Amino acid sequence: MGARSGWSCARHATLPSLDAGTPSRLHTFCDHTPGYHHAFRPAPRAPARPGGSAVDPVIVVGAGPVGLALSLALARQGVPSVLLDETSGQEEARPARTVVLRPDTAHFAGRLGCATLRDEGSLWTAWRSLRRKQQLRRLELTDRPDDGTPPRDTDPAATGTVPAPLHIPQHALARGLRDAVTGRHLIKLVTESHVDSLEQDGAGVTVHTRGPHPTWWRGSHVVGCDGSRSTVRKLLGIRFPGRTAVERHAVATLRAELPWPDEAVLHRRPPWRSGGEEITARPLPDGAWRLDWLLPPQGELVTPDTLVARVRDTLAGWCGETPPYELIDTGVHTVHHRLARNWRVGRAFLAGDAAHLLGALGTQELDEGLRDAQNLAWKLAYDWHHGASEQLLDSYESERRTAVAARLRAADQALSARRGGALRVRLPGTGRGQDALLADGHLGLGRLGAPAAHLHSPLAHPGAPDEAVVGTVPGALVIDVPVSVPDGTTARLWDRLDRGHLLVVLIAPGTGVWDRRHWQSAGLMPRLAEAVAALPARAELLVAESYPGAAAHTVLLVRPDGHLVASFAGVRPDGLYAAADSARGGEPSPAAVADPSDRTADVN
Ligand SMILES: Cc1cc2nc3c(=O)[nH]c(=O)nc-3n(C[C@H](O)[C@H](O)[C@H](O)COP(=O)(O)OP(=O)(O)OC[C@H]3O[C@@H](n4cnc5c(N)ncnc54)[C@H](O)[C@@H]3O)c2cc1C
Repeated sequence: MGARSGWSCARHATLPSLDAGTPSRLHTFCDHTPGYHHAFRPAPRAPARPGGSAVDPVIVVGAGPVGLALSLALARQGVPSVLLDETSGQEEARPARTVVLRPDTAHFAGRLGCATLRDEGSLWTAWRSLRRKQQLRRLELTDRPDDGTPPRDTDPAATGTVPAPLHIPQHALARGLRDAVTGRHLIKLVTESHVDSLEQDGAGVTVHTRGPHPTWWRGSHVVGCDGSRSTVRKLLGIRFPGRTAVERHAVATLRAELPWPDEAVLHRRPPWRSGGEEITARPLPDGAWRLDWLLPPQGELVTPDTLVARVRDTLAGWCGETPPYELIDTGVHTVHHRLARNWRVGRAFLAGDAAHLLGALGTQELDEGLRDAQNLAWKLAYDWHHGASEQLLDSYESERRTAVAARLRAADQALSARRGGALRVRLPGTGRGQDALLADGHLGLGRLGAPAAHLHSPLAHPGAPDEAVVGTVPGALVIDVPVSVPDGTTARLWDRLDRGHLLVVLIAPGTGVWDRRHWQSAGLMPRLAEAVAALPARAELLVAESYPGAAAHTVLLVRPDGHLVASFAGVRPDGLYAAADSARGGEPSPAAVADPSDRTADVN
């Protein structure tokens, strides 16, 4: 409790912390005295104890999938968090509320320990598009992990390397993440706690929750992952402009035998009366499917009877006659397009549905929420451990808000193309037909679905003549190639992400068959190891046999979230140093440095 001494709060001084004596030593300024609202007055945070000690955790508001993922990603990087949620913590099972994760976000959730992905998620084997009575296209999807991110300048659809998305009920994903939280002593999940007030000062944030035990919490930062009606966003006074009801879908999850087991289907203008404009069928495990019917914009009423009629007509349309089916769940999903004006105000951030809403044309809202969590986690972890520059913390909003804004723009353009109805309609710069365009959001391709490349990020390295060109543009997500780790084990590159440090990857053909004693002391390695040790931010040195588009002896510098910073032809200590400095956003701001760095916390 030594770190508490900096707080001026008369009543609190006599109250024990909830966390005193917990193995994680979480410093969560809290008071379980009901009605305790007034006497609290925050004061600057006391320094961390010499030799490393627990300090204020990050406060994450909302234990939906995004908040859970953020807390887990912070824990993976040694940062404690308090995860506050207003519910009892038991998410209602709603099988009609499913989400599609692309390889990067599915891998991210897996790395965080979500064990339900494998058993309760389904990898699609193919994508089929139909129009009226005609099949337009059938595209095989691959589940090979090395195809996770196709190299630049290749059209994955043309080269047969479109990675299979993972489709899972949201409650199963959330349960998997919640189970992973249970084992993490760096995360304190507090339920029945509704955040209703937020203050911040130069040293941290103070949040109040109401519920059975009204409590004040003190944290280093706060992140609002509290959904589309976000209280945190409102408390910060951030506007949330956009468009209401861009698309509406009647949704049903059912079990039936369809003619295309494990394949996802987009059927436009189906030739039966209740078919409407568009139906999608997306497979789930155990013969279950999620069916979505695009409803007309003018708010057609969906009653249980009309929905059952749609189900029967659709199954009959596809199977010849209505086969036996089991209706599991139904609902209406209304897609809004909104983007919060700001995603950062001082020490407060927004992520997930609190920051944006999208979902038209098969674009996936939760995918983007998980990308927010991954992007923000390493930056907060850097600040928490070492002190960050304002540029690093600001880059969360510049990168992620720009990415989601671009997605929304692409969706708006594609929606007008769809309304135009002509098959030849093309989006500027895509050079592809409408059918391919309408599949992109579902398949995680192109401007509607591919992970963003942060080309104009404030963290982008300006580049230098000694930089090399590889199959990934700087700012884009690296390809998940096999790598050797200094301890001699082998792994995949994505397995090494989200550990709070940069990655330096040497492309050294032939090293895979060598004993590591040899390659660690051979060729470029000693010089590279020296350059890596001198970097301004901690980095792990890895070796890969090959990387698409990279010549032997290329050196890649990769951010903790897997985005490429720069690549060099050989060992270039100065270039590497400058690129690592760009990636951390330059020198930490004086305020961040004034607060002691090198904090440590027990890591699982
Ligand atoms: C029928 C349906 C179908 C959908 N289909 C898809 C789909 O196909 N693909 C897709 O990507 N998305 C889909 N979505 C949207 C998806 O469910 C959301 O994008 C997702 O839930 C967002 O996750 P989140 O963690 O940001 O927010 P949420 O899941 O909304 O979680 C927010 C959490 O914050 C808590 N909270 C709120 N306010 C407070 C407060 N003041 N204090 C404390 N806690 C608070 C809530 O209890 C909740 O636990 C669908 C939604 C519906 C309803």
